Amino acid sequence: MRFLVISDIHANLTALEASLAAADGRWDRAVCLGDLVGYGPDPNEVMDRIRALGATTIRGNHDKASCGLVDAEDFNPVARKAALWTRETLRPENLEYLKQLPAGPFEVDGITLMHGALRDEDEYVFAPAQALQGLLEAPQQVSFFGHTHFQGGFSFRENKLEVIQLRPGTGPGFAALQIKPETRYLLNPGSIGQPRDGDPRAAFAVADLSHGVVEFWRVPYDVEAVQRRMLEAELPEPLVLRLAFGR
Ligand code: ZN
Repeated sequence: MRFLVISDIHANLTALEASLAAADGRWDRAVCLGDLVGYGPDPNEVMDRIRALGATTIRGNHDKASCGLVDAEDFNPVARKAALWTRETLRPENLEYLKQLPAGPFEVDGITLMHGALRDEDEYVFAPAQALQGLLEAPQQVSFFGHTHFQGGFSFRENKLEVIQLRPGTGPGFAALQIKPETRYLLNPGSIGQPRDGDPRAAFAVADLSHGVVEFWRVPYDVEAVQRRMLEAELPEPLVLRLAFGR
């Protein structure tokens, strides 16, 4: 079984299409770790595409805020403005779809999916100390999380916690992680639509656990085309600018 693992698409259809083209259908099942919408200009188009893929999808904090499940008042002003724009722009059936998305952790075919932390879907897992509970208590050897928009993750073996950071070279491509026995993994595929780890290329992963390999992909896309659509939609300028820097 090869999983296509995508997360934090944030209504960026151009980045999603570039990622799907690079993955080239060489996967059996798609899973999505949440934040389909919020920030970007294409919420309906992205949701239509994800639904057509038949992806197993859990909710993110922006999905909850955009469909009104939670108040956007907790967001910073820029994120709140984008969430309210998204709520007004989404078609009714897409709003309903977001409302019924399950929370993580969610088990599917031998892997565990979560948006944030194992015990709190809204918690950011940046540091090893924050990853420890997920590494120790997740029901499966390999779990995937999103939310931070940083590609990489953590491994744990014999009381040793290691930070995993793999970065593919220029152009579209991947760096491969070998999954070792007796080791537990908490892995982040990175963000498709708004990377924040300093690399503006779209990020995702392909996991083939029967062969013990996880591919961490980076794919360039037409950032300026997305920025133009954001300006036309009058989305906040800081969100437009950050796409070019991957921060
Ligand atoms: Zn996100």
